[in-house]
Amino acid sequence: MKKITSLISAFLVMFAITSSFTSIAKSAEFFTIGTGGPTGVYFQTGNAICKMLHKQAIAKEHGRKKGIDTAYRCTAPSTGGSNYNIGQIKDGEFQFGVAQSDWQYHAVNGSSKWKGKKFGNLRAVFSVHNEPFQIWASKKSKVKDFKGLKGKTVNIGNPGSGQRGTMEELMKAMGVDNSYFKSTTELTSSEQVKALCDGKIDAFGYSVGFPNGAMEQAATCGAKASPINLTGSQVKGLISGADYYAKAVIPKGTYSNQKKDATTFGVKATVVTSATVSDELVYLVTKAVMENFDDFKAQHPAFGFLEKKNMIKDGLSAPLHPGAIKYYKEVGLM
Ligand code: GLU
Repeated sequence: MKKITSLISAFLVMFAITSSFTSIAKSAEFFTIGTGGPTGVYFQTGNAICKMLHKQAIAKEHGRKKGIDTAYRCTAPSTGGSNYNIGQIKDGEFQFGVAQSDWQYHAVNGSSKWKGKKFGNLRAVFSVHNEPFQIWASKKSKVKDFKGLKGKTVNIGNPGSGQRGTMEELMKAMGVDNSYFKSTTELTSSEQVKALCDGKIDAFGYSVGFPNGAMEQAATCGAKASPINLTGSQVKGLISGADYYAKAVIPKGTYSNQKKDATTFGVKATVVTSATVSDELVYLVTKAVMENFDDFKAQHPAFGFLEKKNMIKDGLSAPLHPGAIKYYKEVGLM
């Protein structure tokens, strides 16, 4: 009798395990949004998108309002940044990613870093915040402009990050290579602030939305750092030669001790996907953000200026994904 009881309970346990696996498999489809360093704005962007999607799903589960399908669940892990994200989407590892407008352009056109590796299936979903390209230098380094970086220790960014690529484009425009600096480091965006604060580097280059907590830390730590101006004919040449660049200003007072505007050039952060991702999923992600827009904008101060009508065109050089177009047409944005 004892044997029979334990056989029955073993069967029940097996049944419970199997059925819970089947119900997960049937009810949820997981997907990934590639972001950037944990202290950047991309990480917040990816997680805000997931939050809006899950919020719609929960609303439906509770029958409070007409929400989206509950079958999709997303994660937005910290990654190496723009080019890493685009590469992972190309390889089918990520379904979405946040990427700078310059790298969206180069990936879909097979230019710059993407020469010979063109990703023709790259698709745009919408753009988000502005990302001025910033060179932050410690007070002690006395760096005031690009020329001042000569003979200094500079973090040029981790391979795969958007800033690494944009820094290289800027260096090309300035006619210099790594030997212009005393030495270069390849720290990630979350490591570079500590290195600057500890006096291990004189400056770092970073394309990031503002205001940003990590930059405030650079401004207030022992380095008393500030963003330098990136202006002059070479920068003008960069901007006029490409639609994905624009003049950008970080207004004085954005950060503690920042007494002057920092004038530079910048890109847009954009959300991208692949033509192979289903119309349904892209439609649902687009809808979740657009229909919870005030909540989405409240997720980060860098989103304060977002306007739907600009998000569907600014900084987008890859074709819009049909799933996104379906939503934009449905609500009359297009
Ligand atoms: N623009 C950076 C990149 O493409 C990321 C900035 C952020 O994490 O907010 O790698």
